[in-house]
Amino acid sequence: MNVTERFLKYVSCDTQSDSRSHQTPSTPGQLTLAASLVEELKCMGIENAHQDQYGCVYGHIAPSKGCIRPGLALIAHMDTAMDMSGANVRPRIVKDYDGGPIVLNQEKSIVTKPSDFPSLLAHIGQDLIVTDGTTLLGADDKAGIAEIMTLADFLMANPDFPHPPVSILFTPDEEIGRGSDHVDLKKLDAAYGYTVDGGLLGELSYENFNAAAAQVTFHGVTAHPGYAKGVMKSAMLIAMEFHSLLPVYQTPACTQDREGFFHLDHMEGTTETAVLNYLIRDHDHSLFLERHQLMEECVQFLNRKYGPETVEITFTENYQNMYEKVKDHPELIDWAIQAMEQASISPMITPIRGGTDGARLSFAGLPCPNLCTGGQNGHGRHEYVSCQAMEKVTELLKNLVKLFA
Ligand SMILES: [Zn+2]
Repeated sequence: MNVTERFLKYVSCDTQSDSRSHQTPSTPGQLTLAASLVEELKCMGIENAHQDQYGCVYGHIAPSKGCIRPGLALIAHMDTAMDMSGANVRPRIVKDYDGGPIVLNQEKSIVTKPSDFPSLLAHIGQDLIVTDGTTLLGADDKAGIAEIMTLADFLMANPDFPHPPVSILFTPDEEIGRGSDHVDLKKLDAAYGYTVDGGLLGELSYENFNAAAAQVTFHGVTAHPGYAKGVMKSAMLIAMEFHSLLPVYQTPACTQDREGFFHLDHMEGTTETAVLNYLIRDHDHSLFLERHQLMEECVQFLNRKYGPETVEITFTENYQNMYEKVKDHPELIDWAIQAMEQASISPMITPIRGGTDGARLSFAGLPCPNLCTGGQNGHGRHEYVSCQAMEKVTELLKNLVKLFA
């Protein structure tokens, strides 16, 4: 099987995760894919391949003869995002893409246009795998899985190709933030890792957001609206006032690159109680802390104005910028760049405006930058991946293991 055949096989399995589930993995389809990946790894000759009770798939490939380097982990996730259905994915290959609009679904008038998605123009002449417009494709991150599996197959068939011990890990539930919850680093037995979970060919990331959530609760006083003068305190109006105190332009819609933001993610309220839920993001750790502090100051200001304990805030810390850990291992970046250049891929170093499994793994002791998969427009109906890009990423991975040997 080549990388495209593998990819088409994996996207036929519905592995959408579900944050409302308390099971691990959150959905049974992920166990089905895990079992089929284990079987495929065993067929390649990786006898130790297995899935644990959490649905994590592990497989270890012995180093080439004479290699005494520490282990390298290659990691991808099995689940797909909740934003759109991942059931009954009907992939279609657009051969020799001509640079024009791609009609995904005639009946429903769903068209992927280069005017909306300019990255398409980087793929003229290539074969693109697209959806029928009713589901996501699942290139995030089944392209990563297909690329790692194709590398594994190559290494097992070519044991003399120079490589260190390679540890393969496929995680469930990454999209709902639980991907690294049950990873057993001892079992993984690697000194370094890469997640293969990025986008456009050449993307290389070793910075991600610092991320926290803030819940702000407002307590009001209700009264008959006709006789409320001096008595009523509307929790909703105080909530609106709180939001108005935050910097207007520091929102997801007004920021890019390394600019952080406050994102009002959910709100609900009555006169008596209102709750605002925010996501706080920043690459820079001191600016990230300042964002916490600014929100605290807004709370204090409103409590002075409306009375103590009118407003409460609680923060939940989610993940940290992996750069803190990866910066001590510059060779991980150098080798990734070299491996790309050897495959004639131009490296594009981009800070991730989100998190990856690698962020938490980096802080758990496995420095873990993120490599491209070639997939684009993840989490939606316009998701696509180029067959040639997946082949290039597979080549990149071959070059990378050779550099580590
Ligand atoms: Zn992903």
